[in-house]
Amino acid sequence: MSLAEVNHVQVAMPWQQVQWEGLLARLQEGRMPHALMLRGEEGTGKNQFALALAQLLLCNRPVANTACGKCKGCQLNLAGSHPDLAILEPEEAGKAIKVDQVRAVVDFVGKKAQLDGFRVVLVSPTEAMNVNSSNALLKSLEEPGEKTVLILVSHQITGVLPTIRSRCQVMDFPIPNRQQALSWLNTLVRDAAKSEKLLNVAGGAPVRALALNESEWLGERATVLQQWLAVLSGKRDPVRTADGWAQYPLKDLMAWLLAWQIDLVKLVSVGGRDIMNQDLRQDLQAASTMVNLERLFACHDHLLHVKRLLNSQANPNPQLLLEEILLKWSQVRLR
Ligand SMILES: [Zn+2]
Repeated sequence: MSLAEVNHVQVAMPWQQVQWEGLLARLQEGRMPHALMLRGEEGTGKNQFALALAQLLLCNRPVANTACGKCKGCQLNLAGSHPDLAILEPEEAGKAIKVDQVRAVVDFVGKKAQLDGFRVVLVSPTEAMNVNSSNALLKSLEEPGEKTVLILVSHQITGVLPTIRSRCQVMDFPIPNRQQALSWLNTLVRDAAKSEKLLNVAGGAPVRALALNESEWLGERATVLQQWLAVLSGKRDPVRTADGWAQYPLKDLMAWLLAWQIDLVKLVSVGGRDIMNQDLRQDLQAASTMVNLERLFACHDHLLHVKRLLNSQANPNPQLLLEEILLKWSQVRLR
């Protein structure tokens, strides 16, 4: 969902309280950083945190350190028409942020605030800016002007230009504690077993888990696993399998494969303590007797490389990537 479409008051997630309180303290001391970079795995609620902060900064009468939702600032904000808030995000999900969009924001930063308060720029995800767009934003990061805060969100910090990164105060948003994530998820899903499974599938990222709950293809996970294992055991052709997988969202598919591989490593090396995909233990256990650990590591490195590629502006061919992933995977088998 586009950040510009959010029309209700946001709060920080339960697992973001340390980061939230740290910023509140700085705000109260009048030491709010001009540029923040919220970085971490996708699907943990960084966008929500960024919005909550933007709303708080633009609220005229915060209540308990949260935007009140009623004042003029909040009303403008929730109507999507606050003159002192600029949101920079791809016009289409998964696409690049265009340099023209960045230039408009640079103009915005160069002007005076319309209302008597902060001006806020949200950028998400930062890695959606290519080199030209990033360079266009640099000036705003260097001289943001008084009471201006730029909040940048990044799911893949290696995809962000170092010159951008170095001008921001970086805050880490790791995958949350499992119990905390589960209890949050379960208040929304209202099914403990399903929440467990969703969180596994999402690699521990609760907001992604919730999104998966609403997606149609979660039921395909078992099929994908069986096909993946059949490629490993040599019973299924990697290229043909890649063809069939073209129907799935590649980023989510990657999250499954990465989590399964990590579990395999745990099963081979430490007997499978704390594996993420408890519901798939039996299948993964069987597979763990078939893998060459060294080649599994190499295959995992390759997957991480592909993940970075997908988050970059490289615009790779998904079909070829899938073929490459599955060919490498087929070579992990012990022989
Ligand atoms: Zn307010």
